[in-house]
Amino acid sequence: MIDVDAGLVERLLLELALDGAFGETGVWRTVYSPEWVAAQDRVSGWMEEAGLEVHCDPVGSVWGTLEGSEGGSVIATGSHVDSQTPGGRYDGALGVIAGLVALRTLREQFGTPGRTLAAVSLCEEEASRFHATNFWGSRAIVGGISPVETEQIRDRDGVSIGDAMKAVGLDPERIPQAKRDDLDTWIELHIEQGPILEDEGLPVGVVDAITAIRHYVVELRGRSDHAGARPMQGRLDPMAGVAEIATAVIGVALENGPPAVTTIGRVDVQPNLPSAVPDQVTFTLDSRHPDQATVNAQHARQEELMREIAERRGLEISWTKPLDLPASPSDATVVAALEQAATEEGIPFRRMHSGAGHDTQNIARIAKTAMVFARSKDGRSHTPDEFTSVEDCVAAIRVLTAALHRLAY
Ligand SMILES: [Zn+2]
Repeated sequence: MIDVDAGLVERLLLELALDGAFGETGVWRTVYSPEWVAAQDRVSGWMEEAGLEVHCDPVGSVWGTLEGSEGGSVIATGSHVDSQTPGGRYDGALGVIAGLVALRTLREQFGTPGRTLAAVSLCEEEASRFHATNFWGSRAIVGGISPVETEQIRDRDGVSIGDAMKAVGLDPERIPQAKRDDLDTWIELHIEQGPILEDEGLPVGVVDAITAIRHYVVELRGRSDHAGARPMQGRLDPMAGVAEIATAVIGVALENGPPAVTTIGRVDVQPNLPSAVPDQVTFTLDSRHPDQATVNAQHARQEELMREIAERRGLEISWTKPLDLPASPSDATVVAALEQAATEEGIPFRRMHSGAGHDTQNIARIAKTAMVFARSKDGRSHTPDEFTSVEDCVAAIRVLTAALHRLAY
């Protein structure tokens, strides 16, 4: 049995939430802000206290290493320290704390591991300050940041991410040195951010895949006319087209059944007047499924329907795909280690997919990966109301710790 100190977990969660505290229970901690610096310093201190070798990588992710007696490639765990604006105390933060508590617990209970273990507090995941970062911390680890991005990616005040790094003492020229080629296995613990575990009365989920995510930005063009003088017959109304398209593409996800999801989250109407048929409507379409073959078919069907509806209505249609992330299946051996760990520890769990994107899908390019979910109260996240009980945090951390024990000792 793994003995995780619940008092320690609670104390660390509350203390980390002080950096960027927002209102009663919220956190506002964007990458390379003073609050972010304070949080990474705090985590670094805790890692030292836990007996880990601490270093900060070139993008500001803080690593704590527990060297194994056999050397070789590394088994790593962690999550991101940045937050939404505002976010809650658990998104990312719980995985950072889980990683360092797991390594501290293993070192105290079992001494030096055979394989080397590492816990990491990743610098950025949320894209809440810079909208185009797309997982800055984990992309650095896999060598996925292109040199032009440090100048091109800017926050709302026009500050480039390269300048923001320099302001906290990091050298953007060194980003390529953040790349790691020694990671063998990666496990991220995260809050679920949805209602599935709560609905089933389970504290923990073992993630077998992260969903594919595609974003379309669709432009539908018609002809602006007087809302009273132009009869219904003969209109080229892109809003009527959007209404039919919304029903059709959401219908595809409903027909496919769970876990297929499709959302039209933003609609821009031109000229956006109460008494004019619009000229043009631009809308976003977010379409997801964790199985690659299924999601390919889902996207193809949705594109076919959009073209068909536009054509029938005499509207011009075009789209771009600004985000297109493939499904990221977990590694079967890591999933098995987590499930065996949960069973051994007597912690009820289910296998599930992640409907949200995570750093893990980047790290999957270079390592065997899986995730552990902790139950979210009311399925809420990206809000100060986000909550996971200490008992559920500890249950998930015990599963992580026991799995790391199986893999490293
Ligand atoms: Zn997160």
